[in-house]
Amino acid sequence: SEPLLQIEHLKTYFPVKSGVWGRTKTYVKAVDDISLTLYSGETFGLVGESGSGKSTVGRSIVRLTDKTAGEIAFRGKDLYGMPERELRKLRPKIQLIFQDPYSSLNPRVRIGDAIGEAMLQHGLADTSNVRERVLDVLELCGLPRYHIDRFPHEFSGGQRQRVGIARALAMNPDLIIADEPVSALDVSIQAQIINLFRKLQRERNLTYLFISHDLSVVEHLCTRIGVMYLGSMVETGTREQLFGNPLHPYTKALLSAVPVPIPKLKRERIVLKGDIPSPVDPPSGCKFHTRCPLAFDRCKAEIPLFRDLGDGHCVACHLA
Ligand code: SF4
Ligand code: MG
Repeated sequence: SEPLLQIEHLKTYFPVKSGVWGRTKTYVKAVDDISLTLYSGETFGLVGESGSGKSTVGRSIVRLTDKTAGEIAFRGKDLYGMPERELRKLRPKIQLIFQDPYSSLNPRVRIGDAIGEAMLQHGLADTSNVRERVLDVLELCGLPRYHIDRFPHEFSGGQRQRVGIARALAMNPDLIIADEPVSALDVSIQAQIINLFRKLQRERNLTYLFISHDLSVVEHLCTRIGVMYLGSMVETGTREQLFGNPLHPYTKALLSAVPVPIPKLKRERIVLKGDIPSPVDPPSGCKFHTRCPLAFDRCKAEIPLFRDLGDGHCVACHLA
């Protein structure tokens, strides 16, 4: 499969004022040098606790938050280097779906009008066929036709996420970045939405970057997974590599907290001490050393390299 999106040494920092008079400029290092390639048609899960920087990766790709350094290329083209006109044409191809689609829907606009307007704007329909096109996309997302004239508040949580997905899909995207799209939903509804994501991928050859703090959701949907900690990627691999043979102590700790259906297989629960340190002044060496149960002298002094241990299973740990 071909690379669709290539992220190289991405850094996204936010300036914060500090010091006695607020005159010292320091930075929240939300994303601190990560590299990642997404292949056409795959579902890549980006996991980590809140504050790990995973949402910022998504926002940097769609340029909701500008990167500080590094490169992001879509189909080989630099998303930050291309002329504005070209970027505007390309934008619909990368869609971002949020945890709460309600926050990005205008409460006074019927959803059919909102979706239709976006399609017209991007030349994906004309006035003679826009209503049919909107109905098609609603139907594809499991929403009955009569919903076209409803307002956002008339939908339940699960339906609202279907509307969010329909709106993204109406743009005929290649890549969908979904940031915690099922986290606010009941477990039974989560399963329905995950099945919808699967169905749409089969029918539309979509590539997903699926951002979630929930490893059991990611395990159901994703073929490859990346684990972030404090702005850094600590491990990436296939689902089988990550779940069957996790190598980074942080990944092991996250996995140990996932409920396992068969008690015999239950892993020893690894409880991490302390909270995630501040991304303004992250720990030296391995950023995880303040919480790692296996940390030793070298971890404090030396940043572990992110290395491929074979078959694309990459890890950043001195012990791997
Ligand atoms: Fe733990 Fe050291 Fe490995 Fe970091 S490099 S994960 S502190 S053992
Ligand atoms: Mg987030």
